[in-house]
Amino acid sequence: MPTVGNKLRHLAASESSLARQVRGALVRTLYTSPTSLIVGAIAGSTVAATIAYMTGNLALIICSITIHIVGLLRIASAFIYKRIGAGEMETQRIHWERLYEIGAWLYASLLGIQTFLVLTQSVNATLQLLAVTMTTGYAAGVAPRNAGRPVIALGQVALAVLPMAIGLWLTDDPIYWILGVIIIIFAWGVFDITLQTYEVVYTALSGKQEKSEVAARFEKMARSDMLTGLDNRLAMQMRLGELLDTIDPDTSEKLAVIWMDLDHFKTINDTLGHLAGDKVLIVTAQRVKAVLGSRGWLARFGGDEFVIMALVNSSEEADLLGAEILESVSQPVSINENTVEVAASLGVAVAPEHGRQSEIMLKNADIALYHAKNEGGKRVRIFEPFMHEDFLMLRQIESGLTDALMNDEFTVLFQPIIDLATGRTKSCEALLRWKHPELGDVSPAVFIPVAESAGLIGDITEWVLRKACEAAAEWPEDVNISVNISPALLKQNNLPVTIIETLVNTGMVARRLELEITESVLLDKNPHTNSLLRQLQKMGLRLCLDDFGTGFSSLTYLRSWEFDTIKIDKSFIRNIGNSPTDQKIIGAVVQLAKSLDVATVAEGVETEEQLARVREAGCSRVQGFYYARPMTATQAAERLALEELPDDGQLKIVNQR
Ligand code: C2E
Ligand code: CA
Ligand code: CA
Repeated sequence: MPTVGNKLRHLAASESSLARQVRGALVRTLYTSPTSLIVGAIAGSTVAATIAYMTGNLALIICSITIHIVGLLRIASAFIYKRIGAGEMETQRIHWERLYEIGAWLYASLLGIQTFLVLTQSVNATLQLLAVTMTTGYAAGVAPRNAGRPVIALGQVALAVLPMAIGLWLTDDPIYWILGVIIIIFAWGVFDITLQTYEVVYTALSGKQEKSEVAARFEKMARSDMLTGLDNRLAMQMRLGELLDTIDPDTSEKLAVIWMDLDHFKTINDTLGHLAGDKVLIVTAQRVKAVLGSRGWLARFGGDEFVIMALVNSSEEADLLGAEILESVSQPVSINENTVEVAASLGVAVAPEHGRQSEIMLKNADIALYHAKNEGGKRVRIFEPFMHEDFLMLRQIESGLTDALMNDEFTVLFQPIIDLATGRTKSCEALLRWKHPELGDVSPAVFIPVAESAGLIGDITEWVLRKACEAAAEWPEDVNISVNISPALLKQNNLPVTIIETLVNTGMVARRLELEITESVLLDKNPHTNSLLRQLQKMGLRLCLDDFGTGFSSLTYLRSWEFDTIKIDKSFIRNIGNSPTDQKIIGAVVQLAKSLDVATVAEGVETEEQLARVREAGCSRVQGFYYARPMTATQAAERLALEELPDDGQLKIVNQR
């Protein structure tokens, strides 16, 4: 069992570690009951007045007067405290504690001295009994009352009891001596009770404080995003609801809700790691905050999704704000030695036009974002009603794509690319086909962008590569296989590994595999993409610049990149008959390509006339329905076998459309 000594040591330790709030609460306990102060003061004053009157002793009269004054002052201070409180400041709290301490110790000393004087200077046993009872009762009463500040309570007991015990021992009555000893033992017991009470009060209060601190922390945690310190979805949704309620439809005030999502964030995470991803998110949050200033609110909805809200006067203003945010976010972020290209897509919905309820506003901003992504990303789109249906269809496609590989819904067709000089197939382009269980045949022009933004293009391309190489392994060795590689894939690291694995597993040589890439890949000037393309070239793969003429059509690519082939887009070929300019452009491109030893493919040749023009322009190869439509692997193998036949095989093939 802990002794009073141990408890005192524990008291010293707990006093020094006492948290501010707990101490404040304990000090409050001193003042909580002015009633007990009043009752004590009345009893003390009555006893003191009686003793002073009965003895007529000057010292006791002075003592009695002082007891009256101190008692009154303490009651007054308790009432003042009750009215104004201690305040939040630590210094104020200490001030009130000191004040109480002085009053309490003074009062206890006065009672102790009074008893001492009565015992030593009076012979009236009744008055002595009165004084001793008063002081003992006082000690027994204050100890539990002030146990919250045990130093004060112990001081009160000691100051009241010690002079009394000494007074008892100074008499010549042995019974009084024994009483003195008993009173000291009693005081010791009171000490123990005081400390024990303190411990209980202290533990209860600090537990309560801890609990309230934890509750406050949880509350904050529940409303904010740990990584960026921004509001989270919950907090933002609550604010959005409040703001929508305050929008007045009679004024021009509008609320813009902008949903932003980083482009290719998964790639950053996958290639550079989660710490790099976190850094990008933190920097992005800072950038948006800097643009917004006090114009609006920013929250992170999880992952790489952010939502911005701002009060605006028009949709145009919302659009401009979106553009400003896009501009600031789409700057490189440096992480250690790496520079990461960051871009974002933003969808904007404006209340009240696009909705008055928070769920609808968020959904419409999300739909607009989805369109921004699907159009290639790095853009701002404002919600328009037509987007809703497209969105539903695209969502259906997206969810369908997730299972398409597993459910065997894909096939690859092959479309021959004919060498005009020999009339024989130079290569076949692998073209993906998908039969959706409900939507039926979906064009790759529709589902490939969805697969890209949903992060599914990697697995799909891996599958196409395997099917294509498996088929080509059966063909004559001088026929190549062309596979479309989406730009999103060239931002990832694992493409070379996937290709090597596929070549090894299918027994194909690298030189027969031609990768078709669009010039948008090169426009980005992404150093990572560039080094990856060089790596692929070093592996011996051929590169084909696809859809030439649809983008910037910069011929500088031909100089800086050793493309084996450029494919002139079918939109050019379609016009070739009635546009002399197109014909001239094609002629110029072909000449330049020839001088650089690059082959040219005219894509989408459907008619004899188009073929004649293309031939005239000097194109070396042709692809199009005029020669052959995309066909199954078996059909392609049969066709190529026929071509192998000597003599007039060439003619037969031309007619086999
Ligand atoms: P692309 O790379 O430009 O592919 C050529 C498209 O032109 C194919 O459409 C082909 O069927 C079509 N075509 C060929 N000859 C003619 C013609 O004479 N007239 C007309 N009107 N069209 C012709 P398809 O198969 O619908 O593919 C559309 C696009 O989808 C492709 O354009 C390509 O960008 C993409 N794609 C297809 N398969 C894949 C794939 O496996 N991976 C990736 N990343 N993209 C693919
Ligand atoms: Ca292509
Ligand atoms: Ca093309």
